[in-house]
Amino acid sequence: MSSVMVGFFIFAPQSKLVMKSEEERSVDSDGSDAIKPFTTVEEFLFQEPLYQRLDLAGCIEEIEVLYRRQQRTADGHCPFCCRQSTFAVSGQGVPGGDPWNNIQSRKSFDTVSLICARDREHALYYFVRIDDLIIQKVGQLPSLADIANDESKTFRNVLERSDSRELHMAIGLAAHGVGIGSFVYLRRIFERLILKRFTAHKDAMGWQDAEFVKLRMAEKITFLSSFLPAFMVKNAIIYNILSKGVHELNESECLKYFEILKQSIVWILQQDQEAKAEAEKIAAYTKAITQISGSISSV
Ligand SMILES: [Zn+2]
Repeated sequence: MSSVMVGFFIFAPQSKLVMKSEEERSVDSDGSDAIKPFTTVEEFLFQEPLYQRLDLAGCIEEIEVLYRRQQRTADGHCPFCCRQSTFAVSGQGVPGGDPWNNIQSRKSFDTVSLICARDREHALYYFVRIDDLIIQKVGQLPSLADIANDESKTFRNVLERSDSRELHMAIGLAAHGVGIGSFVYLRRIFERLILKRFTAHKDAMGWQDAEFVKLRMAEKITFLSSFLPAFMVKNAIIYNILSKGVHELNESECLKYFEILKQSIVWILQQDQEAKAEAEKIAAYTKAITQISGSISSV
């Protein structure tokens, strides 16, 4: 395979993008400062905390997006629209004459920005460090915590005040790479939401508290299968992580499960919002029908 020439620069073929051995790209023994494989530009910009080191080796398409050789959009929360949006990724442009001719050995501080499709003035800015295909975010505006907390505000109408406060704490801690602390807060919220589901339906279903409390989390999710998002029920086994004690968890394990748990909470809250909107619609129609019935009977 030949190298791909783009402008003045050369992209090495994908097969040659691994320049360090696995030993050289070693993972720290406690997992707290491990180099993780890079997944996607969208995940990197919207989910990874500052300073997390990620390995770009083999990710030619993602590198092309980061360095403006390929156009891409990314979906995420826009803190200016206060809702989910699609953003155009604007990668680092490399000016003509730049001595860089091989991404593998690039050492630089670069910028990436996201431009909201609804309004070009809604921009998220990222400052990144790349060094021998190891990339890390070293700055961003607005912060990950500000974006995520603005997103959590969209669920305030279905969240208890204490859950809302703890979700805020969890997101803030995760944005700073604090795995165990953020995970424990999310676990508390998740457990309360699951218990709330059980309480809401137990009388109608004839369930007993005793048969529910003894179950492990994966079993509770299967037990409540008719009242939880299908994806969660199908993958119930992953929630057994929640049955582990805090002393059994490590930082990297908690950060790994953070997004799954946060997304699960979002799904449950979205279900609650849909149910609330449906109940409000029914109440409004019932009121309108009552008024019409009253006017008909008075004719
Ligand atoms: Zn926007």
